[in-house]
Amino acid sequence: MTYNITKVSALEILDSRSRPTLEVTVELRGGVRATAGVPSGASTGSKEAVELRDGGEAFGGAGVTKARANVEGEIRHLLTTRSFDSQEELDRELIDLDGTDNKSRLGSNAILGTSMAFARAAATSESKELWQWLDGVPGQEHRLPVPCLNVLNGGEHAANPLEFQEFMICPLGAKGMRHAVRAGSEIYAKLRSLLVAKGETVGLGDEGGFAPNIATPEEALQLLTTAITEAGYSTGVDGVMIALDPAASEFYSDGAYHVGGEKLSSTDMINRYEQMVADFPIWSIEDGVAEDDDEGWKAMTTAMGEKIQLVGDDNFCTNPKIIARAIDHGIANASLIKLNQIGTVTETLAAMRLCQQAGYGQMISHRSGETPDPFIADFAVATGAGQMKSGAPARGERIAKYNRLLEIARHGLPYGLA
Ligand code: PGA
Ligand code: ZN
Repeated sequence: MTYNITKVSALEILDSRSRPTLEVTVELRGGVRATAGVPSGASTGSKEAVELRDGGEAFGGAGVTKARANVEGEIRHLLTTRSFDSQEELDRELIDLDGTDNKSRLGSNAILGTSMAFARAAATSESKELWQWLDGVPGQEHRLPVPCLNVLNGGEHAANPLEFQEFMICPLGAKGMRHAVRAGSEIYAKLRSLLVAKGETVGLGDEGGFAPNIATPEEALQLLTTAITEAGYSTGVDGVMIALDPAASEFYSDGAYHVGGEKLSSTDMINRYEQMVADFPIWSIEDGVAEDDDEGWKAMTTAMGEKIQLVGDDNFCTNPKIIARAIDHGIANASLIKLNQIGTVTETLAAMRLCQQAGYGQMISHRSGETPDPFIADFAVATGAGQMKSGAPARGERIAKYNRLLEIARHGLPYGLA
């Protein structure tokens, strides 16, 4: 196939946290047009590709009009003056045009929006679903991911005292997508009524989970376990399990982890996780230690890597070079996968292929700042990752992804971890 792009435009829109982000539109010869919304994080890894922000007064400096101008200037010129045979060819040209290691010149937001919008336009022009058109990961067939629903929010995503950022429920043993979403919704409702009964606030954090005034992760885990069982589900790999993303870089300072008023060494922190795993149905921990605590990462992987999934996010940044080094050093056994951390569809696929070859799991992820674009749902199915986190089963920008998975599920694909 050869793709001829006739128009490229961008718009500064708001994300789910009321911060500006980009929406990019690509039009192909023949008139097919497609749009993509760019996500944006709060607890970002230091080696993530760089979003171009305007600075200055408007939106507290978070405007993206420079990134918009780059899409409608240099990027449009490149894309409309030649043709492309594949996503990879387009993405390579965008990377070369930018010319930096971290996409800081044109902006990862400008580049990713273009990369995603092109994928969607190309799929549409061939009358394919996006998940059918996207390249996948050899060795991983198309499948519907286990939704990891973040029902309790803390850390940078909420103003409550809880340091841990995300407490997720994962219906590993669900019979299929519909059952998984139903379990998530019923447990979310049960959790709400438990919080109301305790006189707790049921206000929501950035990812749609409740943000009650509880202080320790163990209290949160107890609440969640009760909600799962009282909603009528069993805990276990044939039922519903819990995944954590403490996002530990955010409560690590002066060489210590600050949790619930205590100051913990790396070893203390890992011991604490081992106790949590013994007491609660936890199957996955992401960013259990800080991004620059390499020794902590190695120790945690040695101590727990045979028992549970350990996911690198802030330390990996979906970056194939960084992940390759981590694999060599025995750090983690899975990677979080966020398109905007690396900035193109092609490089995200490269990171996943590397993980697949090393036997590392891959959890597809939204960001705390989202748009209604359900791109990651198609991406999760295309790549056969088997797991995807997109926040709570609440708020439009979160459920857009889960609802898209329900649509795709009508094609009768297998569900869950391979
Ligand atoms: P972020 O959080 O999008 O705010 O970075 C998500 C995560 O840490 O996984
Ligand atoms: Zn994370």
